[in-house]
Amino acid sequence: MTSSFKSIEENLKAEAGKLLESGRVEIVLAYGRGYDENHPMPFVAKHPSDVANMVFNEYCIHNLARYLVRYPRGTKIAVAVKAADCRAVIQLIQEEKIKRDDVVFLGIPVYGMKNPKTGEIIDSKTTCGMYNPVLYDVLLGEEVHGQKIVSPYDVLADYEAMDKEARWAFWKKEFDRCIRCYACRKACPMCYCDPCFIDQSKPRWGDKSPQSHGNLMYHLTRFHHLAGRCIDCGECSRACPVDIPLYLFHKKVAKECEEMFGQAAGMSIDDKPALVNFRVDDSDKILE
Ligand code: SF4
Ligand code: SF4
Repeated sequence: MTSSFKSIEENLKAEAGKLLESGRVEIVLAYGRGYDENHPMPFVAKHPSDVANMVFNEYCIHNLARYLVRYPRGTKIAVAVKAADCRAVIQLIQEEKIKRDDVVFLGIPVYGMKNPKTGEIIDSKTTCGMYNPVLYDVLLGEEVHGQKIVSPYDVLADYEAMDKEARWAFWKKEFDRCIRCYACRKACPMCYCDPCFIDQSKPRWGDKSPQSHGNLMYHLTRFHHLAGRCIDCGECSRACPVDIPLYLFHKKVAKECEEMFGQAAGMSIDDKPALVNFRVDDSDKILE
């Protein structure tokens, strides 16, 4: 079973048109045509007539929260969000990168999204496995119910069965394949530092060339920066041209954070980011 993509597309066009016409928002972040149907692209509508170019289908996988921080603070923006994307917007609000009042959540409840590279249905293996946005102002379809609910952490079973040496060998081998294209960083809604630490020359944090030690520095620092912030959209893994399973590391860190701090990233605008918040009952496990 899959969602009714056509009806979501029609609702998206209608709601986006209304928001632009009324002046409630200045832009709408959604999806537009790519070079074929399997490759739709992020799309920005600025005028009501632009909505005719919007599309929504099972390949609209990009997390559009990625683009919110590109606009000056205070810009009124409506953004089309699937479940994980919605959590990214909430996380950006928690981090005070954007204000709740400046964003209209166009929520997309959806099941059956597909990876354009493989044609496989995207499930909890690479994502948070949720179908309905946790927050929305307008819902563009019927909520999804009755689908199998699987823990997003189940996929970690084989990885967690490895001892420390095996995990080290696993990641060393994977990171040695990295060509440092930075597509993972580009796709990630939570990677908004400008400049990124790895692009700095004073101080120079790590080697920019795709070699073992520099790759390790880039990835371990990025994983650390995303601790308690990654909302498990899986876009970094899908963007990677050499298919490094980045989701395994992000999920492992997310699982540990959830166990230690009792909250998952981007689930409520009332939460504070786990690693910048201090509560006397916080676990000390992070210090081990
Ligand atoms: S690290 Fe990957 S899975 Fe996590 S928010 Fe960024 S793109 Fe999504
Ligand atoms: S997308 Fe893949 S190859 Fe490119 S920098 Fe990230 S991990 Fe390396």
